[in-house]
Amino acid sequence: MTRSNPQDKIGNMPSYFDLPPLDVSLAFPQATPASTFPPCASDYFQFDDLLKPEEQAIRMKVRECMEKNIAPIMTQYWEKAEFPFHAIPKLGELGIAGGTIKGYGCPGLSVTGSAIATAEVARVDASCSTFILVHSSLAMLTIALCGSEAQKQKYLPSLAQLKTIACWALTEPDYGSDASALKTTATKVEGGWILEGQKRWIGNSTFADLLVIFARNTSTNQINGYIVKKDAPGLTVTKIENKIGLRIVQNGDIVMRKVFVPDEDRIEGVNSFQDTNKVLAVSRVMVAWQPIGISMGIYDMCHRYLKERKQFGAPLAAFQINQQKLVQMLSNVQAMILVGWRLCKLYESGKMTPGHASLGKSWITLRARETAALGRELLGGNGILADFLVAKAFCDLEPIYTYEGTYEINTLVTGREVTGFASFKPATQRSRM
Ligand SMILES: Cc1cc2nc3c(=O)[nH]c(=O)nc-3n(C[C@H](O)[C@H](O)[C@H](O)COP(=O)(O)OP(=O)(O)OC[C@H]3O[C@@H](n4cnc5c(N)ncnc54)[C@H](O)[C@@H]3O)c2cc1C
Repeated sequence: MTRSNPQDKIGNMPSYFDLPPLDVSLAFPQATPASTFPPCASDYFQFDDLLKPEEQAIRMKVRECMEKNIAPIMTQYWEKAEFPFHAIPKLGELGIAGGTIKGYGCPGLSVTGSAIATAEVARVDASCSTFILVHSSLAMLTIALCGSEAQKQKYLPSLAQLKTIACWALTEPDYGSDASALKTTATKVEGGWILEGQKRWIGNSTFADLLVIFARNTSTNQINGYIVKKDAPGLTVTKIENKIGLRIVQNGDIVMRKVFVPDEDRIEGVNSFQDTNKVLAVSRVMVAWQPIGISMGIYDMCHRYLKERKQFGAPLAAFQINQQKLVQMLSNVQAMILVGWRLCKLYESGKMTPGHASLGKSWITLRARETAALGRELLGGNGILADFLVAKAFCDLEPIYTYEGTYEINTLVTGREVTGFASFKPATQRSRM
């Protein structure tokens, strides 16, 4: 049997083999790619009327910045799985990092204002919204709600301007949904603490200046929080490769081998896992608004595409089946916005429970997945190309379905609240307790 030699094959290739790809606007002239972002057509029930003037203003400011600065570059960075560091100053100028935090150079937005800003970022690019969310609603908020006065003054102002970047490290290789059982240890020594352990999936961690790390105090057996500086001796962070979603976000594996943290960098208000719940309550509301924004972008893209693209002598928008899918997507978006808005109002009035936040996040993410699948169908072949947004958004929704509590775990949180029965542990384990 003769085997073909790959070298021979390359030698026999046509002269045009290995040419760079045609620009998508030449390759497919009939429809506009997402680098020129479609106008917003998804606010069908005029949700804007429910916003205060300052919330409407931040919405428009974020939308304009994202469409102008991020839409033209996002496909390229998503494909390369690289972060566009040059865009950080533009995102910093938006004044949304620090979200609801008041003082210390932070914007002090309402929960609704911060949520709508999150959605507007996610409408154009989900990865950028995750970058800001991890930095702002997780790391900065932990310092704001649980840190000392000195820590707030020292760290928050430059974090608010995105001059320094933070990450938030709870998850470990062996403890994902079961994060409260985490095993990273913090041992008290003269003048500080020694951290030892491993974290996984941590967004922004490969380049973060500050790493908010949760570890188990070896004296109390409770979970404490620490601020670790980049390049601390014993700390290494490596990028997780080969993700299919949120490819612009740099998720890392963190390894800590006898990392020393001075006493001044222990976050004094984190004394048990329960203390992280104050932070997670706000961040879960923000995370719920990511799939809303993503779905808005998907709808906006499909709405334009169906009018531009013609088959059988008519725009795709003229076919009944396509209209049915488009209207189903539109109705999903309207319902998601209203659920998200109510969640904000429950939080602002002090009435939001963990069950509310979990139901909002899980249900909205479910509807977003359905919306993305319909959008992906509507775009035909271009539905699998990142250039036309929907394929990218489709993939970006997958990690959001899973992080900040998976769909299932959030469902169980709501289930516990409405039934009074906690159902996180297998029945056999529960019956022994
Ligand atoms: C892109 C990305 C970014 C992330 N960023 C961060 C970050 O910045 N910081 C951070 O700390 N973490 C981060 N995470 C981690 C994330 O929070 C976890 O992935 C998530 O909590 C799920 O944990 P796991 O992946 O280990 O899944 P597992 O816990 O192993 O779950 C696997 C499956 O089992 C189900 N399951 C688990 N337990 C139960 C149960 N009791 N009952 C029913 N079903 C159950 C889950 O719902 C899921 O379907 C990120 C993850 C991703 C993918």
